[in-house]
Amino acid sequence: MNRRYRKTIIAGNWKMNMTASETRKFAEELKAIMPRAKWCETLICVPACNISTAIKAFKDLRVSVGAENVYFEEKGAYTGEVSAAMLKDLGVKYVIVGHSERREYFGETNETVNKKVHAVLDHDMNPIICVGESLSQREQGLTPEWIALQVKAALAGVSAEKLRRCVIAYEPIWAIGTGKTASAEQAGEVCTAIRATIRALYGARVARSVTIQYGGSMNPKNAFELLAQPDIDGGLIGGASLKPEQFVDIINAANQE
Ligand code: PEP
Repeated sequence: MNRRYRKTIIAGNWKMNMTASETRKFAEELKAIMPRAKWCETLICVPACNISTAIKAFKDLRVSVGAENVYFEEKGAYTGEVSAAMLKDLGVKYVIVGHSERREYFGETNETVNKKVHAVLDHDMNPIICVGESLSQREQGLTPEWIALQVKAALAGVSAEKLRRCVIAYEPIWAIGTGKTASAEQAGEVCTAIRATIRALYGARVARSVTIQYGGSMNPKNAFELLAQPDIDGGLIGGASLKPEQFVDIINAANQE
């Protein structure tokens, strides 16, 4: 982390978990143990149908609510999709874009990720742009090129001013939901390379202001070490964000002096 230049952000990603009633129960449990706001911003990205419930339930908790996906078109005949204007109107601040599960199961491509990034920014929200390599890409030594390609594609046409509102989440696919975490060194190295890619595109000043998260089985045991890496400014957390105590332990790790 480097709090001098950029925000530390701890974000939960609930994926397709938690009903509206479970969301309210989670908020009650969190209320009892949530630490005072210190250094890090906290948010939880929830299924679209529970955004309003979550916003109400988390209101007094200093926890913002994010969305897990968005469609890039403004409006129209796109049955089942949710637009950026709809999310903004509900009070959403952050939107996850290009999660590897969406790339793998729902045909998300670098091109659609880029369109979604623009839609989110055009509606004054903040995209959390996910990038990450597969195990076989890592084993073949392709990680640096692949990540640089995903970052460049996602940011095509994004101005330096708007880039300041983007968060990049480095999520090695082999570490998501598997219990396998990248070592702090592996994760830190890729996050440093992501910042170098942004520096080459936008210059040093902009690059140092961008929050870069790590995601992939982050938990209370490994959070402190991962967040101690100079270019890891927070976490995108799946499994551990479903348990209030574990989520709070990670927030506490991010609030370290
Ligand atoms: C994620 O869904 O973005 C994620 C990192 O999940 P997990 O923490 O469960 O690996």
